[in-house]
Formats: sequence, structure tokens, C-alpha cells
Amino acid sequence: MAKVMIFMDGSWLYSTVRFLGEDFQIDYGKLPVVLAKLLGRKMGGIPVDIVRTYMFGSNAINYQNSDEEMVKRRKVFYDILREEYGYQVEVFPVDYRGRRLRKKDRHPDDDFSPEEKSVDVALSANMLYYAALNSYDIALFLGGSRDYVPLLQKVRLLGKRVAIASIKGSCAFELLDNKDSKHVRDFDVIWLDDLTEDIKAVNEERYVECRSPMHEGPNPILTDEFVRKNRPFFCKECREKMRAQRYSYNDDEFDIENDFDDESFGNRIINAGDVYRGRIKRLMDFFGFIETPEGDFYFGMDDCAHGTDFYSMTEGTPVEFIVVNMPNKRLRGSRGNGKAEEVSVASNDESDFSEE
Ligand SMILES: [Zn+2]
Repeated sequence: MAKVMIFMDGSWLYSTVRFLGEDFQIDYGKLPVVLAKLLGRKMGGIPVDIVRTYMFGSNAINYQNSDEEMVKRRKVFYDILREEYGYQVEVFPVDYRGRRLRKKDRHPDDDFSPEEKSVDVALSANMLYYAALNSYDIALFLGGSRDYVPLLQKVRLLGKRVAIASIKGSCAFELLDNKDSKHVRDFDVIWLDDLTEDIKAVNEERYVECRSPMHEGPNPILTDEFVRKNRPFFCKECREKMRAQRYSYNDDEFDIENDFDDESFGNRIINAGDVYRGRIKRLMDFFGFIETPEGDFYFGMDDCAHGTDFYSMTEGTPVEFIVVNMPNKRLRGSRGNGKAEEVSVASNDESDFSEE
């Protein structure tokens, strides 16, 4: 029996999966199993035990509201890995300081470039730590960046085997080199390109109930979308209505001159990722606003925590939530709203915010 730990460079994977085919979707439940089986075969048919699957990734904070869908898709992706497939996911924030995510959407004179820190350091620290603790026999690295060459070398110096899985066209030469002149691996590179039939997500159509009371037409509906086991399902039409209603309500045009920075933002007491508390101020059909001493936060019907029903809340309900974006007090009205997620009804009516 060989123990394998899988370390995935999530930022790399998220942006390179498209090389596997247009609209290709990986079945993240199957992926570790397929890779482990293949490793077992490469070692002469011995059974392989997957000790743990790590995914290290990043996501934007302090981005402009127009990019919310993009950020949300990535957040749901990480959540699904955690909740549905038991991955250990570590996500690091990338601060966009109120800007758009894509460079082409930013002001031409804006020389801002987002800094993705911590992902490679966290992956490396974990792979080395568990090697030193003898927690695995084989480190299976899924990625493609040459930045990991020193890491893979060191792990091998600790007597561990290293396997690399990657995608053609986005793998550094040092990793795929047939001669392995950098001594980074013990097996030929496993190409996901050759495994597409085994790791492809097949979403079969089935009937699922849309949980929005505003839903129109027959319900349940036929869908091939991924349905998360512990979350209410909202159909595409209802999600589109939510978006349309939100943007007609919330005009978020935003001038670069209005951009804020840490120094001038005042004594901020909350940060993205913090748990914060407030009261439901207003509820629309598909979204609502939370009032706090730091300003108002927007949240959608699909931003509620596991076990919290958006449609059971009323105005005045005390809630707790995770801060995605801070309110920007320089922007008037709804444009300056913050963004909340994992909203849940607070267990006790705590009105004293000074302890936060
Ligand atoms: Zn619906």
C-alpha cells in the first residue's frame, strides 16, 4: 500500500482547464481516484491510498461589483470541492482595490497589477511539512509552473516519490523534460489530456426543484446543472432575474478618481473574510440589504449559509455573514454597498457592535 497526497495548484488549474477542450469540465470527485489508480499501475499494480487532496487557490476581494459573477463562480467552485468532494481547499485573497478583474476592463493609465501571494508558498509548505512527517509516500503535484522545481527537488531529497500531473501546453519544460535533468519526478508526467474520458464531468439531465417562491412555470424543472447537496437550488431564470433586478437597482458605474486606498479609507474595522453582523434592512424578490454601522451590504438569495432560507428572513432579522467587499462610503447610495456571503440568522440579538 502506497500513501499518496495530492497537491493541486488551483489558480493554474482554473485557468488552464480550457486546454482540455471547449467547455470541458473536470469531475473533481473522479480526478483524484483516476490519478491514484494510474500511479498504482505505474508502480506495478499496488493499491494506492489517497491520504488527502489539497487545492490551493486564490480569489478576488475588493473588486468592482460588475465582476461579481466571475468571483462568485470561482467561490462556488472552491465550495463544491470542499463540501461535495472533501478536498482541503485553501483560498488566498487577491486585493483588487476597487478595480475590475480584467486588465482590459481597467483604465488604460492604471498600472495596477494584482499580486497573487501565498498560493505557491502554502502549497510548498504543506508538501514539505507532510513529507518530513512521513504522512505520504508519494506527492502527486498537479500544476505546471517552473516555480515549483526547487520544491519537488527537496521533497525527493527527503526520500519521497514525486509524480507530476499536468496539461499539455501549460507545463514548464523543467517539469516535462524527458531526461528529467532537474530531477523533479519519479514517474513520467501524467497528462490530463490523455485522461479526458475518465475525468470528464457528465451532467445528466434530471428534475430539480427551484426553491425560489418567485419561480414561474413548471417546478421542478429539467436541468443538467450541478446541484449542491446542502444548498437550495435556484434555476437559471431565477438567477438571471436576480441579476437583472439587482443591476437595475444598483447602478455601479465607478470612476477611477473615486478609487480608495487603505490610508484614506478611515479606521476600517472590518476586512474581507471577516465575520460581521447586522440587520436585514430591505428584502427584494431575489436579494436583500444588511444594515451595519460600516454601511450596507448586498446579498443574493443564493448567498445564504447552509441551513438558512433566504425567504424565511424578514426586515429587522439580525444576521451574521462573511464580508466579501467592504462598503465604500465615498460612493453615494447603492453604489457604495458592500457584499456579503454565507448569510445566516444570528443566534442571539446582539446589538452592541463595539465588540466586533
Ligand atoms: Zn426558478
